[in-house]
Amino acid sequence: MLVSRSPRASVSPYVMDVLAQVHARNPAEPEFHQAVEEVLESVDLVMDRRPDLVKARILERVVEPERVIMFRVPWQDDRGEVHVNRGFRIQMNSALGPYKGGLRFHRSVTLGVLKFLAFEQVFKNSLTTLAMGGGKGGSDFDPHGRSDNEVMRFCQSFMTELMRHVGPDTDVPAGDIGVGGREIGYLFGQYKRLRNEFTGVLTGKGLGWGGSLIRPEATGYGAVYFTAEMLATKNQSLEGKVCLVSGSGNVAQYTIEKLIALGAKAVTVSDSDGHIYDEAGIDREKLAFLMELKNVRRGRVRELSDRFKGCVFTPVDSSLGSNPLWTHRADCAFPSATQNEILEKDAANLVSGGVTAVAEGANMPCHPHAVRVLLDAGVLYAPGKAANAGGVATSGLEMAQNSARMSWPREQVDRELHTIMKSIHRACRETSAAYGVPGNYVHGANIAGFLKVADSMMDQGLV
Ligand code: NDP
Repeated sequence: MLVSRSPRASVSPYVMDVLAQVHARNPAEPEFHQAVEEVLESVDLVMDRRPDLVKARILERVVEPERVIMFRVPWQDDRGEVHVNRGFRIQMNSALGPYKGGLRFHRSVTLGVLKFLAFEQVFKNSLTTLAMGGGKGGSDFDPHGRSDNEVMRFCQSFMTELMRHVGPDTDVPAGDIGVGGREIGYLFGQYKRLRNEFTGVLTGKGLGWGGSLIRPEATGYGAVYFTAEMLATKNQSLEGKVCLVSGSGNVAQYTIEKLIALGAKAVTVSDSDGHIYDEAGIDREKLAFLMELKNVRRGRVRELSDRFKGCVFTPVDSSLGSNPLWTHRADCAFPSATQNEILEKDAANLVSGGVTAVAEGANMPCHPHAVRVLLDAGVLYAPGKAANAGGVATSGLEMAQNSARMSWPREQVDRELHTIMKSIHRACRETSAAYGVPGNYVHGANIAGFLKVADSMMDQGLV
């Protein structure tokens, strides 16, 4: 069901018709429907002014992936038992450049989840101002509890098929949930071996073999930079702000690192078992422990409460219907785990707990009903395609360095990242004002991202 985020009571019959087609042609893909509804509701504000886009059926084309690849991934575990997973790559839109977007390895991965992520990626990549189309891929493989050798064998089998469909000028995957530096290394090694090519086919590579400084940090840092820009519009800064962070992976870790650097205090982290609340704040020592725990030992956040007095662990309780993480008093929230982790009740809890800014480190972590609650309460709300675009933007910078066979210094990449996040923020603000919804970052991001893609599709003819 469409939940309006705009002052308009409803969307036009034309957009309703396109949405009905999306539902009919893509049954049982609720996350994809949700992502399309959000973008099309914003883009509806454009269509009155652009009959050329209606005539060329740009909306009908943009919701249809250019190509969907689905394949079998057989592999053997350490005991010699055979497993069969499913691999995917969604090549959604190449109007702006080679397909670009991460690979997700998680048991919840389905075609519909990856189509939602690929669709979001198209407009996110457009916002970065870099020449990147949108794609996404992954597998329902669950790396939790698997040995390094098992993960390597899985990655090799996955890449043995994927390598036919990707390449530095075609499609350049990166990491996402369950795919970090270790997995990118195994995937790159197999690609190189099969194609006999050392090219920038993946981003998020190790620093010694083509990776970019700041790429691991980029998504989290970028979300914090974006939030600082939002707060500045209210003459505020992050200094002294209490922040809720969910997740404990790549995005969460570097969000916390940058919050500490800017004088804010992150008081929570989580994984799928539960969350840690630490009133004193996660300082550099606790963050270093968390990074070692998650990136090396691959343990659970619960262990923070064994190691540090003051870290209180609360296990997940699905009977509650809401997540206690979002009930703690705070100024800002950075959902950085997964989609639909903030439901309507959680958003109400955030508002009553004093939160005035929410920046999505994860993709689509706020359910549409939650977004409505936040916007109605006047919360500064940054959708993922704007707030977490720093990761793919820095992937774009990694591609540029690979093409030039150069490595830029840390300060240069960080400066470029910061500039890009500021420019995305400006584009969202200016576009939302130009379309009569000032301060609405959802409409601003969707419309600004869409227009560049749509105009490029128009230029490139009916393909
Ligand atoms: P990681 O795999 O590094 O970490 C994911 C974290 O989220 C883990 O703490 C994981 O806990 C938790 N999590 C995942 N699924 C669930 C779930 N269903 N319920 C509760 N907790 C869950 O992934 P990233 O940090 O890279 O990605 C996090 C989010 O950020 C995703 O939405 C991703 O799409 C988005 N993103 C990532 C970018 C990047 O550069 N990495 C770029 C832009 C967006 P557990 O270990 O228990 O599974």
